[in-house]
Amino acid sequence: MHCKSQWLVFIISCVAYGKAQKNIGAICDDGGFVLEAAFTVAIESVSSEDDPYEAKVVRTTPGDVLEAHNAMCSVLEGNVFGVFAPTNEKALKHVQSISDYLEVPQILVDQSVAHNRNWSAINLYPNHVTYSQAFADIIDNKGWEEFTIIYEGAELLPFFDAIFALQDLEAGNEVLMTVVQLPDGDDFRSHLQTIKKSGSLNYLVNCRRETLETFLQQAQQVGIMSDEHSYVIMNPDFQTIDLDPFKYGGSNITGVRFFDPSVEAIQNYIKSINAKVAELSEDQIPEAVTENGLTLSLALMYDAVMLYVAAVKAMALEDGSSVTCESGTGWAFGSTLLNNLKTVATWNIEEGYKETRVIIPAAEVEGSESMKGKHFIVLTALSAPYGMLKESPKKLEGNDRYEGFGIELIDELAKMNEFNYTFDIQADGVYGSLDKKTGKWNGMMEKVMDGRADFAITDLTITAARQKAVDFTSPFMNLGITILYKKPTKQPPDLFSFISPFSLEVWGWLAGAYVGVSLLLFLLGRIAPEEWQNPYPCIEEPETLDNQFTMANSFWFTLGSVLTQGSEIAPIAVSTRMAGSMWWFFTLIMVSSYTANLAAFLTVEAKFYAIKTVQDLANNPYDITYGAKKGGATLGFFKESDNLLYQKMYQYMDEHPEYQTSTNDEGLARAKSTEENYAFLMESTSIEYMVERNCDVAQVGGLLDSKGYGIAMKKNSPFRQPMSESILQLQEEGKLTRMKDKWWKEKRGGGACADDDASSAEAQPLVLANVGGVFIVLAAGSGLAVICAIFEMLVDIWLISHRENVSFIEELKAEIKFIISGSSDTKPVRHRELSGSGSGGSKKSKVEDEESHKEAENNLNAPTPSERSVSHHSRHTLHSRRQSNAVQMARMRKFSKATY
Ligand code: GLU
Repeated sequence: MHCKSQWLVFIISCVAYGKAQKNIGAICDDGGFVLEAAFTVAIESVSSEDDPYEAKVVRTTPGDVLEAHNAMCSVLEGNVFGVFAPTNEKALKHVQSISDYLEVPQILVDQSVAHNRNWSAINLYPNHVTYSQAFADIIDNKGWEEFTIIYEGAELLPFFDAIFALQDLEAGNEVLMTVVQLPDGDDFRSHLQTIKKSGSLNYLVNCRRETLETFLQQAQQVGIMSDEHSYVIMNPDFQTIDLDPFKYGGSNITGVRFFDPSVEAIQNYIKSINAKVAELSEDQIPEAVTENGLTLSLALMYDAVMLYVAAVKAMALEDGSSVTCESGTGWAFGSTLLNNLKTVATWNIEEGYKETRVIIPAAEVEGSESMKGKHFIVLTALSAPYGMLKESPKKLEGNDRYEGFGIELIDELAKMNEFNYTFDIQADGVYGSLDKKTGKWNGMMEKVMDGRADFAITDLTITAARQKAVDFTSPFMNLGITILYKKPTKQPPDLFSFISPFSLEVWGWLAGAYVGVSLLLFLLGRIAPEEWQNPYPCIEEPETLDNQFTMANSFWFTLGSVLTQGSEIAPIAVSTRMAGSMWWFFTLIMVSSYTANLAAFLTVEAKFYAIKTVQDLANNPYDITYGAKKGGATLGFFKESDNLLYQKMYQYMDEHPEYQTSTNDEGLARAKSTEENYAFLMESTSIEYMVERNCDVAQVGGLLDSKGYGIAMKKNSPFRQPMSESILQLQEEGKLTRMKDKWWKEKRGGGACADDDASSAEAQPLVLANVGGVFIVLAAGSGLAVICAIFEMLVDIWLISHRENVSFIEELKAEIKFIISGSSDTKPVRHRELSGSGSGGSKKSKVEDEESHKEAENNLNAPTPSERSVSHHSRHTLHSRRQSNAVQMARMRKFSKATY
């Protein structure tokens, strides 16, 4: 009996007997023993002493839904890992609904359910789209211009999708197609006669394996199997039919097969099944598999068991599910196992089941065309914000479960290059580092290298070592290593905060300017003739003159203006006034700047920084422990660096593995923790993300290096070029920046610390660069004042030499001598005059001088100033008049001040 009514339900369950044993069960409703035998043989072949598996089979009546239900429930009680779904539509639907609800994955190996969309199902049977395309190519190759499609059941229609597309009238492909459905039962002759009458000579046949032989016999009887007729048989089990009776008719019959039955492994498999059928059926006549009789479903059964066990091993699952038909919730690992089933291995015609994925070479196709229509496994890690689990009240499946920068980037690249993808998660979060002893890579790198993943995307740094093992796309993000540490703490107010507005350097310059200008005034006072005043204005011809700019007065005058208090000293000469006003201007600016900055210092809180740079961290004055991500690029940077500081830091981290973390999140938690004084060395982009959301931590110091993140793929991958081009295009269009802003600043609590940052601006002391200009103005003004003073002195000497008829040079020498030597603030008058007739006037005798001095003293005590001024007027020179006026003025000012 053929397997027409075979309904197979395999429920694979693992029931742990003791610690190591795993039972795998199957419910079989085929009414025979062949599939059960194949299943048992497959289980036996994957079982080993270290990891033993045992087949547990439940048989049910074909097509009996109730029995299927009970069998399912009973197997579920034995720690179910997955369900091999039946082909009977009713039983299948029922069993699948239970599987879906309880989140138990199913594997299908039959074409009748090829279009099943249940989340829990994986079908190993060839996909109808690819399958029909293969036959469309065969027909195209044969050059058929007319043919008849003969099919048996409606469920087979999807397998003609690409065939129907051959008749593209718009493109001018006029292929004459006739479609005929075979009737129920086993007599097709009348239909075949109709086809014969239509004159059609080519036939594309898709009927069930059980019908195929009858169909060919009847076609022969009707007479459409001569040498002018051609057949293409679509059933994948065509090779199991004995073709001897048809080979003499002369017709061309083309079929396909998915494996070569002469291969030793297949022969052994067939023998094992036959032996197992004999064992199972006991005294019944076994329906053994003949040499050619291995159907595709039986072959897939073997591969499915391999695939399933590989997925269980990959997840290191020891215990199966504990769900039952009464359970209200599903199996926690169900969807993960399902995902693993999709990624852990491949099956193809040439190689059968393979645990590692094989990338089909892109042949000659160049650029993004090479990716078009392909399906890739994209490996990522749950590392925010590159890849994260989506938060949703609904149950999500497949790629919908993930979101993040990396996820969105792959989506964009897939749209641009028209490829499909499935995400796989690196559960342990290990990105990959090289073990130099074994020469092996681990983590995501290993999976990409051995083909278990086509691409790896996360915050995966492009490093020289990794670049040797895999290919990277152009970087999609640039970054550098820096430090994540607690935000600086607030400092108590400083008693001496009034010093803060100026940097020490500025204070130094200010003191220098003060001393310099004071000395300058002293000097100018001595040079400028007008600063030498008659101390007793009533004496017409004083013997000595006084100077107000004594050393002490000079310092007092400048200090008075710096402190904005003034002094009673008022410069008289142009040069001293010039120097004085420059100093006032200087103090005006300096005092205003000081006041303004002092206000900032008093209002902004001072912060205490335990560390400001990586040097501080290495010197570690506050016992700060530090580390980086285990096996990550950051640790690698310190390891490989030839900088002594970084070497010292690596040595520290190497000696303290307890400070290395598994993930960035762990590093963040430790940096935040109040129980630990921990700094985490991390990549700047990840720090940016974290400080947007965790307001108690901040980036410390600048970047130690500069590098990028890229998408990794196998060495010499043909997809590197199109992927890199697309990344550059996204960069140029500004999409990458927008995406970064979205995932960093907007989504998932971004911007939470924006206010903190605004208020965290700190007052900075003014440095020389801020106030340097005013020092320059002061210096220039002082220089000008010196020139002016010298000029004043020269003019005065010239006037005197002219008036007194003495040598200018002699007079100058005497004056300079006095200025240089003069320690006294009193200057003897060298040329005293008696009357306004200056020219040619004889010098007064000493006696006369003394007389006039006395007279002047008397005059000073005289009661009427008018009298005094009259008598003075007749004898004073213009020069001495000016002097006395100035002294008078000064006295009056003094008087008025005292009065008020
Ligand atoms: N991006 C790093 C890597 O690719 C992981 C994080 C780190 O080391 O700071 O290994």
